[in-house]
Amino acid sequence: MSQGTDELRSKAEKDKVEFFFAMFVDMHGKPCAKLVPAEALDVLMSGGAGFAGFAAGAIGQSPADPDLVAVPDPASYTLAPWQPGLAVVQCDVHVEGAPWPYSPRLILKQVLEVAKSRGFVYQVGCEAEYFLLRRTPEGRLVIADEVDSLELPCYDAKALTRMYNHVTTVSKYMNQFGWANYANDHEDANGQFEQNFRHADALTTADRVVFFRYMVHTLAQQAGMTATFMPKPFTHLTGNGLHMHSSLWDEATGAELFVDSADPRGLGLSETAYHFIGGLLDHASSLAAITCPSVNSYKRMGVGAPLSGATWAPAYVTYGGNNRTQMLRVSGGGSVENRACDGAANPYLAMAAQLAAGLDGIDRRADPGEPNRDNLYELPSEEIARRGIRSLPPTLLHAIEALTGNDILRQALGKTADGDYIDYYASVKRREFLAWHAVVSEAEVDRYLTLF
Ligand code: GLU
Ligand code: MG
Repeated sequence: MSQGTDELRSKAEKDKVEFFFAMFVDMHGKPCAKLVPAEALDVLMSGGAGFAGFAAGAIGQSPADPDLVAVPDPASYTLAPWQPGLAVVQCDVHVEGAPWPYSPRLILKQVLEVAKSRGFVYQVGCEAEYFLLRRTPEGRLVIADEVDSLELPCYDAKALTRMYNHVTTVSKYMNQFGWANYANDHEDANGQFEQNFRHADALTTADRVVFFRYMVHTLAQQAGMTATFMPKPFTHLTGNGLHMHSSLWDEATGAELFVDSADPRGLGLSETAYHFIGGLLDHASSLAAITCPSVNSYKRMGVGAPLSGATWAPAYVTYGGNNRTQMLRVSGGGSVENRACDGAANPYLAMAAQLAAGLDGIDRRADPGEPNRDNLYELPSEEIARRGIRSLPPTLLHAIEALTGNDILRQALGKTADGDYIDYYASVKRREFLAWHAVVSEAEVDRYLTLF
């Protein structure tokens, strides 16, 4: 057995682990797992856990294909403290002994390797917003806290207090895992919360986002609630972002490569950081297909204000300083926050695509221009047009069309036996869009029924 397995076994023995969840996610970020008793740890670590891939989700398999084999990464070991005796390990997917090119975790690893070969470590911090809801006896979804109804509920101390149990349990667990939870708040929509943990290398943070969502869903459900990370669950309320903060670090020296206190633009960023930003801006429309990957994602973005007065989500392809109306916000600390990323994003794919776009910017020494200092929710559309400011894609289909034409992301997300992963991704997402489009909505009936 490898050193990793030995360390895993001794940790598990110390923690009195009885069962392991061998977990991986499909293209949509759905966590799939098999429950493996601790007695079978050697079998799990030497042979992995087998799955019928077609049944699991969008992961490139037909019913005729051989098993997906989920091979645990011991470094991802995390206890599930709400269930004594259970630990979770995130897995890389293999088929017939070879890495499976549809495995989102492996796709991220592949791009991280490219970065590493150039001396870069990619660090990411994520802010996973979510709602806490409940079902009424008639089956309707409502805000779990029935008195959480302020027009400006953000940072409402009383509403946060009413969810104290849930929020502090999540916080204590995160600290138990060593994730360094540093803030928890009531967000801008009724029933919406955010709990922040410290940035780490991209793979670690992506594993944590998967675990965080799984944990929040589980704890909410045990308390009789439903958690949702869906980008825009309610038309009249702010949506769920998954803001991602990116930075590159020097692999050899550990130096932060995005920091420069002498930055003439005044954002404290280095030339490398500006090229990375240039890459994110140049690839923004295609990136959105991966960072905002659902039909619903495009209802979150834009300038149209919900009840609280602002969406806090971007409408345009811009960057700026500490200004939340920008797609890319630089609020200090040598990192850049991408706000065009939402709760539906698969964190592995989103990070892989962002890193590839940023590296391309560095290669081309892309120039992002001067930071935008406007309130973009109020800048008149004529002025937006005059300055040539691009809009983010209005629908998933627009974003997918941009993605399929993007050679940098095409190459970065890799090849499968049947072609490029991007084409597989696009075909699944196109189907998702068209299935949604085929359904006649209430809004259409309201508009058209007696109009003609
Ligand atoms: N909920 C907003 C979004 O969808 C973000 C609010 C914030 O700035 O934290 O991006
Ligand atoms: Mg937030």
